[in-house]
Amino acid sequence: MIGRERRVFKYTFQVLTGHGSFGTYLKRIGKIDCVACWYCEEAVDENVEHAIFECNRWASVREECETEVGRRVNVDNMIELMLKNEEGWIAIERMLVTIMKTCLKNQHTIEIRDRRK
Ligand SMILES: [Zn+2]
Repeated sequence: MIGRERRVFKYTFQVLTGHGSFGTYLKRIGKIDCVACWYCEEAVDENVEHAIFECNRWASVREECETEVGRRVNVDNMIELMLKNEEGWIAIERMLVTIMKTCLKNQHTIEIRDRRK
């Protein structure tokens, strides 16, 4: 696998398995106590589906992707749209990388904040 493919596979895999810098997963592995979304402050469990497909924090990133793909992207059609054509692959890759890289970058801060509660 080349670098780009490996990186995309890593993020796509995290979306599909729910393993990533998301509240529900971090709580399950004992990193934090509170699973509420850190970004939109809605009292929802911050799981991968919320972060990628629902959270207001990422609305503009999602909108940009959906404009390029030409339809709404969800967990059920994501892979199909990525494999359909190069534009779909690039647009969805960009959305996943943008959201997940930021979540990963903020994970340490969030863990510290959660411990102080
Ligand atoms: Zn949210």
